[in-house]
Amino acid sequence: MSNLYFHYPFCKQACHYCNFHFSTNQKEVDQLEEGMLKELDLRLTELKTPLESIYFGGGSPSLLSADKLSNLIHQSKAKFSFHDGIEITLEVNPDDVSKSYLKDVKEAGVNRLSLGVQSFYEKDLKLMNRAHSVDQALQSMEWVSSVFSNFSVDLIYGMPNSTLKEWETNLNQALKFNPPHISTYALTVEEKTALYYQVEKGEVFLLIEEDVKAQYDFLVKRLEALNFINYEFSNFGKKDFFSINNQNYWNGKPYLGIGPSAHSYDGASTRTWNVSNNHKYVAALKKGFLDNETERLSKKDQYNEYVMIGLRKIEGLSKEHVEKTFGKTYAAYLESQVSRHLEERNLFWDGDFLKITPKAKFLSDGLAADLFKI
Ligand code: SF4
Repeated sequence: MSNLYFHYPFCKQACHYCNFHFSTNQKEVDQLEEGMLKELDLRLTELKTPLESIYFGGGSPSLLSADKLSNLIHQSKAKFSFHDGIEITLEVNPDDVSKSYLKDVKEAGVNRLSLGVQSFYEKDLKLMNRAHSVDQALQSMEWVSSVFSNFSVDLIYGMPNSTLKEWETNLNQALKFNPPHISTYALTVEEKTALYYQVEKGEVFLLIEEDVKAQYDFLVKRLEALNFINYEFSNFGKKDFFSINNQNYWNGKPYLGIGPSAHSYDGASTRTWNVSNNHKYVAALKKGFLDNETERLSKKDQYNEYVMIGLRKIEGLSKEHVEKTFGKTYAAYLESQVSRHLEERNLFWDGDFLKITPKAKFLSDGLAADLFKI
């Protein structure tokens, strides 16, 4: 099965923590939308299996009208075969939606929404420079939950000056709307973002790691008690509501990324990514070619990625898979690296699968790095 991803690279304003590719200058919107359709045509042969998921991300794809979304879905259907029960997700910002817009995008074929609330505190939204208010967050939650049964809410924990109590209140606000899926991310400071310079200048003070971990641990406990399954480090879903797009991505299925900065993967060892510049992207497509780069992943790269993603997933990582895919040397290396973490009870074997213990969950990326082949 394959996945199709559309990266819509426009936003109303720049969130201070964001390092995704987007532009607040809407000058080339029309040319860019034409470019995305041209790119689809150019890359028809790259996906050989039916589509199991289409994901509209960005940027802010909720700036696209329902008619334009309908056209992109229609064009995709004309060019690729759709698997039964295909998941079509649209990322939406609270300030972009109305109840009628949500009904229209549902009519256009979108069957899953991902709502970028991030926080229900005005002070957090201001600090992040989000374009929406708390009232808009609450209103959009109400509309989304009344129009869609399959939807996810994004929340950010570890906000500067936040307390565990505030995080609990934030989570409870979201839970009032019975979301079947919640994605949560720790606030991270990426280089060259406004937040990075604010932290550098001492204008914003980050929480210490212990406090961030306490918020994450609380989150896992609270959501698991409500029958959410923490199927990946940052993702919690009720049974039958795990994101197909995310799971396919983590399970190494092929995906085709359309739009500036979008990444594609052939499901084996080749990854490509489009230029992260709207003007260059459009200019190349006008001349009939795609401005992109290609990377061939070595066996070592593939092993490291498998380990990194595996430790974040509920299934863990399979020693048999490591041996079959990468060879006996890699399997032996994995065993040797794991022993210390077994003793410290950070990791454990569940049959063939290496998994992370609840107490070490928050440390999964660091633990994975210990198992990497350098
Ligand atoms: S809306 Fe999303 S993509 Fe746009 S700046 Fe904010 S976080 Fe980044």
